[in-house]
Amino acid sequence: MGYKTIIEDDIDILVAGAGLGGTGAAFEARYWGQNKKIVIAEKANIDRSGAVAQGLYAINCYMGTRFGENNPEDHVRYARIDLMGMVREDLAFDMARHVDSAVHQFEEWGLPIMINEKKDKVGGKHPYMREGRWQIMIHGESYKPIVAEAARKSADKIFNRICVTHLLMDEAKENRVAGAVGFNVRTGNYHVFKSKTVICGAGGASNIFKPRSVGEGAGRVWYAPWSSGSAYGLMIEAGAKMTQMENRIVLARFKDGYGPVGAYFLHLKTYTQNAYGEEYESKWFPALQEMVGKEYLDPEVSHRTHRPIPTCLRNHAIINEVNAGRGPIHMVTMEAFQDPHLEEIGWHNFLGMTVGQAVLWAATDVDPKYENPELTTSEPYVMGSHATGCGAWCSGPEDVSPDEYFWGYNRMTTVEGLFGAGDAVGGTPHAFSSGSFTEGRLAAKAACKYIDDGKAEGIKVSDAQIQRRKEEIYKPMETYTVGRNEIVAGTVNPNYINPRQGLDRLQKLMDEYCGGFGVNYMTNDKLLKIGLKKMAILGEDLEKVAASDVHELLRAWELKHRFLTSESVFHHTLFRKETRWPGYYYRGDAMKLDDQNWHVLTVSRRDPKTGEYTMEKAPLYHLVGDVEKKPAEEH
Ligand code: AMP
Repeated sequence: MGYKTIIEDDIDILVAGAGLGGTGAAFEARYWGQNKKIVIAEKANIDRSGAVAQGLYAINCYMGTRFGENNPEDHVRYARIDLMGMVREDLAFDMARHVDSAVHQFEEWGLPIMINEKKDKVGGKHPYMREGRWQIMIHGESYKPIVAEAARKSADKIFNRICVTHLLMDEAKENRVAGAVGFNVRTGNYHVFKSKTVICGAGGASNIFKPRSVGEGAGRVWYAPWSSGSAYGLMIEAGAKMTQMENRIVLARFKDGYGPVGAYFLHLKTYTQNAYGEEYESKWFPALQEMVGKEYLDPEVSHRTHRPIPTCLRNHAIINEVNAGRGPIHMVTMEAFQDPHLEEIGWHNFLGMTVGQAVLWAATDVDPKYENPELTTSEPYVMGSHATGCGAWCSGPEDVSPDEYFWGYNRMTTVEGLFGAGDAVGGTPHAFSSGSFTEGRLAAKAACKYIDDGKAEGIKVSDAQIQRRKEEIYKPMETYTVGRNEIVAGTVNPNYINPRQGLDRLQKLMDEYCGGFGVNYMTNDKLLKIGLKKMAILGEDLEKVAASDVHELLRAWELKHRFLTSESVFHHTLFRKETRWPGYYYRGDAMKLDDQNWHVLTVSRRDPKTGEYTMEKAPLYHLVGDVEKKPAEEH
């Protein structure tokens, strides 16, 4: 198509996607690899990319060990309870023991973190202002640019506006990574990155399930709309094993603007009620206890130990109350908002991280001081750093991980030399922004060691591989050029589908067969099998996706990554024959949590040659004891 090929050779560490995870990786790679060549390839611009691009008002993962607040073990217990038992405790612990130092660095780099002057100084410093037990409050509109600066100063080269489409594979040794390829979303040029290691820091997936927001509101989704599941699409395509991909997340959010609720629940101490002003949550607990068992839901213990009811179970109560005809659910803001300070925080919270919610309330005459705003449950998302743990099956650290969780290098996937951070790593929920950055650091340290141990010697990438990928990448433009004269009406063409049409079809499939909001998050084995059959047909049709320009080419590749992510979600959801997370999704044919058969992690692999999936169960080790040394204080 006349686009130039630009080759960047001799890279030691390629960071593919630099949100918080990728920036952490670039920063740490420079520390451990003083003379290593570190390159970033990023779809947007690292100053405003990833899920933190638009800012955050809280850092949701901070132990506060230096202030005597929490230990890493406490955080593992919290994540484990919230995820109905299912976490990779080695990875979660490893992240938690290092996360505080990342936050302290953010502060040094200029991120304004709120201080609680009412609490006594420890080591000459007041503790940070807590939103909840794990969350600290920040003035974080510029969080990403501040953190990105560290990556900018660390990397040798940054290629912004590169959509990374595929990983390059070594031809000397099977199952070893050799770099990545992609194209520039502005110039269209083809970019080849030959690298000894790749740290995949690309994002999770929004917009794979049909979103509630349509038409003019289509860009309004909970997770970043540009998070196209590339973390998964890239790694699945390369044959990396994935874990917990069934564990999608549904969020309770302010209606239509997806405004976050954490600061409201935890800091403003707002609460929810049904349309008739009644407390409804506890009403659903007895039936829910029947489904999941008392060890997973014991309101008395939760209350006594100040532990939240698991996120999915809170959703379950909302979903059922609305289905019983007593919706909508309201957030009771009218009490807290009488206090001018809390009112200001309520608005600041949105202005710092979800400005669209503030705009929407202003535009629709919702004043939370005089009216309790509506809450709803979102469409599902597939990601790995909020209250869910989708992602690659990665090695843990050598000092903590049991044999099944350890194969030499921390955060390395089952593809040699391919590491993950943030949404890319499975089984590590509740990492959020700071934990993702920390994971990037851990991955980069391990990647440097991998290179120093000589594991990347003799990598070979043929021109044929580079050329084959080039043809594949630009094929949608070719398809368009050849078929465009046969449009029958509007954008309808018998020779191809465009990316928007493909996305609509994918979202409808995911919604109706895989447990989206349109079916009240319900699916079963029959629906999943029909869905998979239809996915195979969609997969064939995606060979004929057409792109009229470079922008549509970007959309075409985002769609392909979303498709691979979705296919994996389908297979995982079919495999786990139980309802582990009521409120995230339900298997109608197995409505109970089944610890006898499913107290395990799910692991999949897609064969890159045949596209066939194999599924297996992996042991779920509880490495951290149940009992906290001291009961959690209320914050
Ligand atoms: P959000 O604003 O909902 O994304 O949540 C921010 C933080 O608050 C995350 O750590 C959530 O897990 C936590 N969170 C949100 N809602 C609640 C709640 N009702 N109880 C306890 N923790 C919550």
